[in-house]
Amino acid sequence: MDDYNSLSLADIYRARKIISPVITRTPLVFSPRLSMLTGFKVYLKLETLQLTGTFKARGAANKLMSLGNAEKERGVIAFSTGNHGRAVAHIARNLKLPAVICLSERVPAFRVKAMRDLGAEVVAYGQSQDEAYAKALEIQKERGLTMIAPFDDPFVLCGQGTMAIEIFEEIPNTKALIVPLSGGGLFSGVALASKTINPKVKMIGVSMEVAPAMIRSLTAGKPIEIPEVDSLADALLGGIGLDNQYTFSLTQKYIDKSVLVSEDQIARAMYGAFYHERLVIEGSGAVGLAALENDLIDLNIEPNDPVVVIVSGGNVDTRLLQAIIEKNH
Ligand SMILES: *Cc1c(COP(=O)(O)O)cnc(C)c1O
Repeated sequence: MDDYNSLSLADIYRARKIISPVITRTPLVFSPRLSMLTGFKVYLKLETLQLTGTFKARGAANKLMSLGNAEKERGVIAFSTGNHGRAVAHIARNLKLPAVICLSERVPAFRVKAMRDLGAEVVAYGQSQDEAYAKALEIQKERGLTMIAPFDDPFVLCGQGTMAIEIFEEIPNTKALIVPLSGGGLFSGVALASKTINPKVKMIGVSMEVAPAMIRSLTAGKPIEIPEVDSLADALLGGIGLDNQYTFSLTQKYIDKSVLVSEDQIARAMYGAFYHERLVIEGSGAVGLAALENDLIDLNIEPNDPVVVIVSGGNVDTRLLQAIIEKNH
């Protein structure tokens, strides 16, 4: 699996077989509100109900369960402040593998606690992501651990792609998928599976307007860096890696349209989902809803065609959600 072109739907079926004992098959629910609003049949794939609160558990499970015995015994290391770290910590505990999660000293205490509670060894080091990453590489070498990449890894992206198999099993005539887009592990896996099942399906990638690393890279024709900023879609922050091996090429190959949403649109989508559907969604998980609600996508499909929005995660700070609800109510 050293070339992105060598990956296939078979790899994603293999991933599904591997991870199904430890992963939740999440519900795909019809949204009357969004269907009425758009004229399509809109379904939400609720990865908010996935173990650890996001789809990242799928990729982490496929990667960790595919390691050799010697690698499993030595253990794994991840560099992440958020959902990826949590997923690796959780799956490692399930499999009884030692896991180290490396992050900077600036990461809030509640996040550190969540990962420690999962039994991971949390190493907080330095004042920036770069310092913490350098430390992670040092520990990896010292102890012979396996680094678990958050998106640019064939096992990780094929794990994320398993949700597409579930979607097409339930709604075989899905005409478009709307997918949150950051490093592109989620998009690549879902697109590889979906476009193989039906080459005509429309694949839409959605990022936040303030820091769309993948979309800027696609425009530039190569991976580029973008400045660090804050966003409600915090799980979509960060670059795609200047030495990206898989997800840039796969996203480039499969994406039909890209869409940008504003911070305000993300906040209103989070509020709308809470108010109308009683769903708790983090900013990154709400970008697809925001794109649909604001009519930002020209899907070029027929009325009543089924459209699936991937609601990628639900790990939002309670106080932040409360503030958004009060402000938009
Ligand atoms: C990681 C993440 C994404 C983006 O996934 P990529 O594979 O980096 O594109 C989207 N939503 C949530 C909730 C995430 O945790």
